[in-house]
Amino acid sequence: MNFLFAERTRKFWRWIYTTISLHPKQLVALVLITVCIGMLLWRHSRTIHVLVAPDSFQDAEISFFALGDQGRGNHRQRKVADMMEAVCQQDRDVNFTLLLGDNFYGNGVRSVDDPKWLDQFELTYNAPCLRGMPFYAALGNHDYIGNPQAQVAYSQKRLGSARWRMPSSFYMQDFGSFNNRILIRLVVLDTNQPIPEQLELIQRAFKNPEDSIWKMAAGHHQIRSFSSKYGDSQQLIDNLLPVLRKYRVDMYLCGHSHNLQLITRAAEPLYVISGAGGARIRKIKNDTTGSLIYRAEQHGFVKIEATPDDLRIQFIKSLKEERQIYTVTRACLRGVNKAKCFNEG
Ligand SMILES: [Zn+2]
Repeated sequence: MNFLFAERTRKFWRWIYTTISLHPKQLVALVLITVCIGMLLWRHSRTIHVLVAPDSFQDAEISFFALGDQGRGNHRQRKVADMMEAVCQQDRDVNFTLLLGDNFYGNGVRSVDDPKWLDQFELTYNAPCLRGMPFYAALGNHDYIGNPQAQVAYSQKRLGSARWRMPSSFYMQDFGSFNNRILIRLVVLDTNQPIPEQLELIQRAFKNPEDSIWKMAAGHHQIRSFSSKYGDSQQLIDNLLPVLRKYRVDMYLCGHSHNLQLITRAAEPLYVISGAGGARIRKIKNDTTGSLIYRAEQHGFVKIEATPDDLRIQFIKSLKEERQIYTVTRACLRGVNKAKCFNEG
């Protein structure tokens, strides 16, 4: 045995000697091959978990996260994702996430194989709780610098973890049910495209008021905003707001303004701006009209909880601070003076 051991040791050292005695070019090739194999193994180790998330929401209570302007692939996006995971694990009631556009900075994605899918979506939201839910997404202006159709194709082909939802660039989705009515009907708009082309969808979604208890619309660009760079959008006030008013849409969610805001105005939808998912924060102007209920110039996200009777809107920007929570009843929201509806907590 000792002889065998000694023989093996001798062979090992001889192999080491012959290896380092390689011609320099051979040695460089060996190092390069080792690095390539190492990178392949590392890439492979960053696996994404394939699952088919449930899209059948039958509960009488539905909760979701909403955030936009997240696709930076930086530490800020990961910090917000970590907070989402913590809240998801703590609350155990979140059904899905709504991404409000600018999913991939700075030039969108080139194709369904773009590495940004891994870095700015799959691996960023890959913790155990977030891994179990679908992500419904809207298209932002940065997504249009690249190939927006690739984001639709990634959804249609159920690629990656099969969580990405964008059946087309604008679409409708129902969530939950109560007394034979849909709890939330959500229309996700493509505000980069002309709104008149999407009016037929809005009309189909909301023309029968009895279909759904809560009527929500979402898009990347703001209708109303107090952001210093992107204020009210006259184009959307002219083209989109009248139809949202006509069908008494309860809430319009958007990003683009890189901050968090809650705005209420008489006879208009409630405006939830959640554009602080990763991109650089922008300032918010002072409000002299009394319609800006909440403002935060910090990274974070929004959690919406819907029951048949009320909505709870939570702004979350730190796990150390208390969440800012607004509860608004359905009856009050349908009334004249909505500003009085907002009970904190
Ligand atoms: Zn934007």
